[in-house]
Amino acid sequence: MLERSKIVGDPPVINTAETLELSYAEDLGAVEAIKIANDFEAALGTEEVFLQYQPMIDLSTGKIKGFEALMRWIHGEKGFISPDVFIPLLEDNGMIVKASSWALEEALMALKRIEGKAGYDKELFMSVNFSSRDFAADGFVEGVYDTISKSEVDAEQVHLEITERLLMGQPENAKETLSECQKSGMGISIDDFGTGYSSLSYLHYFPINILKIDRSFVMEMLSKDSSMELVKSMIGLGKNLKMKIIAEGVETIEEAQKLRDLGCDMAQGYYFARPMKEEDVIEFIKENRQIDF
Ligand code: C2E
Ligand code: CA
Ligand code: CA
Repeated sequence: MLERSKIVGDPPVINTAETLELSYAEDLGAVEAIKIANDFEAALGTEEVFLQYQPMIDLSTGKIKGFEALMRWIHGEKGFISPDVFIPLLEDNGMIVKASSWALEEALMALKRIEGKAGYDKELFMSVNFSSRDFAADGFVEGVYDTISKSEVDAEQVHLEITERLLMGQPENAKETLSECQKSGMGISIDDFGTGYSSLSYLHYFPINILKIDRSFVMEMLSKDSSMELVKSMIGLGKNLKMKIIAEGVETIEEAQKLRDLGCDMAQGYYFARPMKEEDVIEFIKENRQIDF
């Protein structure tokens, strides 16, 4: 069982010396940054840009509940570029709006196919990441509705992942948009929870169903008492507010077991599965109806 993460999913892409240099967007010169952002525009819609899906596991049953869609870009010349590098560039030049709407459609179509091939019927969810630019764009909600009906999934199967920073940047706009989405049944997840704002009052203000505990806390919780206390507090807080809690970056069976004992609802991380291509996800869920740990 301990070996699970080693055999499941795509191995991490091996960085060349050049892609390693691109680990952080701030290392890029302005000209290079603009070039990369322009290259992305041409790459979107080709096989250079695609999605991988990382399963999320129900910690009390060991069953797969859904996936997070994660964007990948294998640049024609530069090879793999991390989303941590290219997403901020797309946010800066506005291309993120096109990229997000492509990702939502692609991910929901994939969800429909995955369920069909693995024998599920509107039981799994797909969680898609959005940036603040998406929320500011005209017709965001209508676009999401259109994509949902086109892909024939239920709104309940769609989760929108956003960060605290996004919410605080344009609170009124975001509140209205999210409320509409939530009313129609979509889940609203706060990504990287615990890393953003010190004030927790926003948890009341916005319609939020799910808190995703950031990987930095999970990573340290078994070696650092303060991280363990923070994880416990985040789980308690989420429960009091009737939200679901997902732990990110679960890499070991010990972390998974501890999180289950603490009452965390779901987990996502290399211990269970790495982000995978659609065909591998189908195989994975056929072979892993339930994961014991
Ligand atoms: P994120 O939303 O926090 O996504 C989780 C990241 O953690 C992913 O990195 C995932 O591959 C990685 N991860 C998952 N499990 C583990 C684990 O057990 N250990 C470790 N060390 N890492 C784990 P990735 O795919 O490189 O994405 C990085 C970030 O780029 C994402 O962080 C998200 O902020 C952004 N991103 C990725 N795809 C999209 C997208 O389609 N739209 C937007 N707006 N942002 C995206
Ligand atoms: Ca995310
Ligand atoms: Ca995250």
